[in-house]
Amino acid sequence: MYVCGSDEHGAAITIKAKKEGVQPQEIIDKYNTQIKESFEEFGISFNIYHRTSEKIHHELSQEFFLNLYGKGEFIEKFSEQYFDEEYQQFLADRYIVGTCPHCHNPGAYGDQCEKCGTSLNPTDLIDPRSTLSGKSPILKETKHWYLPLDKYQPWLEEWLIQGKKDVLKSNVFGQCQSWLKSGLQPRSMTRDLDWGVDVPLKEAQGKKLYVWLDAPIGYISATKQWALDEGKDWESYWKTQQDPANDSTLIHFIGKDNIVFHCITFPAILHAHGDYILPENVPANEFLNLEGDKLSTSRNHAVWLHEYLDEFPGKQDELRYTLTSILPETSDSEFTWKDFQARVNNELVAILGNFVNRVMVLSHKYFDGQVLMGSAFTSSETAVLQELSRFPDLIKQSLSQYRFREALAHFMNAARLGNKYLADQEPWKVFKEDPERVKTVLFVAGQIVANLAVLAQPFLPFTSKKIFDMLKISASNWDQAGKPDLISSTHQLGETQLLFEKITDEQVEFQLDKLRQAKASNALLAPKSEQKAAISFDDFGKLDIRVGKIIAAEKVAKTKKLLQLTVDTGIDKRIVVSGIAEHFTPEQVLDKQVAILINLEPRMIKGIQSQGMILMAEDADGRLDFVNPVTNISTGSVVR
Ligand SMILES: [Zn+2]
Repeated sequence: MYVCGSDEHGAAITIKAKKEGVQPQEIIDKYNTQIKESFEEFGISFNIYHRTSEKIHHELSQEFFLNLYGKGEFIEKFSEQYFDEEYQQFLADRYIVGTCPHCHNPGAYGDQCEKCGTSLNPTDLIDPRSTLSGKSPILKETKHWYLPLDKYQPWLEEWLIQGKKDVLKSNVFGQCQSWLKSGLQPRSMTRDLDWGVDVPLKEAQGKKLYVWLDAPIGYISATKQWALDEGKDWESYWKTQQDPANDSTLIHFIGKDNIVFHCITFPAILHAHGDYILPENVPANEFLNLEGDKLSTSRNHAVWLHEYLDEFPGKQDELRYTLTSILPETSDSEFTWKDFQARVNNELVAILGNFVNRVMVLSHKYFDGQVLMGSAFTSSETAVLQELSRFPDLIKQSLSQYRFREALAHFMNAARLGNKYLADQEPWKVFKEDPERVKTVLFVAGQIVANLAVLAQPFLPFTSKKIFDMLKISASNWDQAGKPDLISSTHQLGETQLLFEKITDEQVEFQLDKLRQAKASNALLAPKSEQKAAISFDDFGKLDIRVGKIIAAEKVAKTKKLLQLTVDTGIDKRIVVSGIAEHFTPEQVLDKQVAILINLEPRMIKGIQSQGMILMAEDADGRLDFVNPVTNISTGSVVR
């Protein structure tokens, strides 16, 4: 069974509600509906799409908490946490922003800096501010219940690291290994929050369960709801059975930021509880980026499915196809609208659409849409049908190893096989002399089309249906795939419909423009970093800034971020090491005039003495640009 749902707790929701001036319930209802509809519209179907705000879920989560509490699994700890005096409340991690101690991003959250990816504690932040009042919070004592992940570490080493090293994908295994290597710490399972599942203890009034305690339990409560609706026994899906052979297999399909919760925290909770099965595999994907930048729904750097459907009506499969082709299975990947256009035009239109269309058009042209078996098969037919029969297993094998990109590539190869067969047989040349032969060729080509309809089901469900409709045969299931007789002789085909249309340059430009507009409006809304303390004119006068010219540039070996620049300062030529290599190539900076602080104390960076600093401007998205004269001015000019 396939379960999914929306996690409707957590600080992000209350923050959004506050921003929009509505109640959290309104936010979760809106997004639950939107997400659920988008899934349906894109042909993604679950046994149940549930939500963690339901009573059945709150009750089950509390039951879990009490079970662990009753066994004495939690450590009770008093700690100091940030508290907003104006709002009289403790601040969840996401309610605190400040400067990241690692990369100095001024907009880091209390739990993570989204710029450098470091996970943080609120107290790590420099100059923390409450997002409620904008003021500096105070530290105040509060009590919480911690899950002793350190206690479960030996068990996790055995179950996860020893037991799953040949099962988990390398990206997942690597992350788990590094978490365990750095040593697990007790993690608080409760929070001072006003939205979420109540901690079911008298002394914990006003406290809620940590969202990563309750969210994965959502899979179980969703199953429970489904079983109630269907009259089934939910426990047989989730609890360990007397005969382990009857245990079900649990697989989590998630993204990389949730690996730790599904591989470490949730299994530790299930293990501590004791009655439940553990995940068999967590084939997590890495990140999908969009047009050179991280996806961000809050910054509206995103492709919204409901907007996509308005702008590309009926083109669900085009997006499904592109996303499957670029799925970040083992490393981050990127969606670009140009690539979307190329995949639709060069693959879906030119290969799959073209083949199906030619078979339909030729069958109508020569035989009024009848599929007819003519002269006997030659070795070409035997060979092509033999090859066709291999595809179902190839695809199945890739899918069962979670290699979706590879599975889709197999599918497209089946379409290529059809195209090649038709091109080799050239029925349009043979028809005049040997129509019986053409009957057979189109008969076999028709079987390939019917097979493509079956094989397309997991990837392109709408296209699959369209092909079945065109062929006028009922949708066959996977067991039929690979067979050479899905259409019988004398069968009458339906009308030809176009499967795919080309994506135009204008459509691509429209989408790119939308993203540019979102970026521009974000820049206006970006948090302004506060003014630093006042300095005297003498302080300023100590800075010796000149206009220099970059006369040589190269990457510093074995680093990602560093460029070694040779700068003509007007008084000398010196080496400066600058952390801009992720933004500019050596070629891009050569011959540029720049502002350079020349009396900064020299520093050794990666064994190179850096004499000075190039001044850069950085926007809220972390984009860097040079601060340089508008017109060319003499090298060595003084900036004052
Ligand atoms: Zn950072």
